[in-house]
Amino acid sequence: MAILKIFKYGSEILRQKSKEVGKISKKIKILAENMIDTMYANNGVGLAAPQVGENIRLFVVDVSLENEKYNPIVFINPKIISHEGASHEKEGCLSFPNAFVDVRRYAYIKVKALNLSGKPFIIEAKDGSLLSRAIQHENDHLDGILFIDHARNIFETIKALEDNGLAPLEKDKMLDEEEIENLLVEDKTTENE
Ligand code: ZN
Repeated sequence: MAILKIFKYGSEILRQKSKEVGKISKKIKILAENMIDTMYANNGVGLAAPQVGENIRLFVVDVSLENEKYNPIVFINPKIISHEGASHEKEGCLSFPNAFVDVRRYAYIKVKALNLSGKPFIIEAKDGSLLSRAIQHENDHLDGILFIDHARNIFETIKALEDNGLAPLEKDKMLDEEEIENLLVEDKTTENE
């Protein structure tokens, strides 16, 4: 058990695309356990491998409430296989201490991944749930995409970074209008209904 160092915004590793996990070795299992401990130690609801310096497709999530038992879920080589609707909410990230910005996500998602035993599983995350948001946030990390890239209010984002002494906004990394629209095709249909 160990608490790992979390890389902050501005670190190049957060922008790299992560590789698929091959064999789920002892090393991978220890990494996942340490990531869970690191997430709890920092009061997070999710943590992705690149945030602790490993560019592999693995993240951990635990959205259980304070009075509930711990329920960590490890996702290896995850894929979002379907999604619906959209939801707006303030979001934060352990690589951006104390910074929160409004981010739009799919409301509902279905995700497929492997667990630590290499067995495939599917999770459906309900409309607008914290689980749905957390999975999308962590999954993005595996492609070098950060939550602020989704932010629509660039001024709010710049201020949140400045106020918390974080690196300046990497404007070129932000998703443009077209990319956001493509991500939210589902949501357009919902709005027209
Ligand atoms: Zn994050």
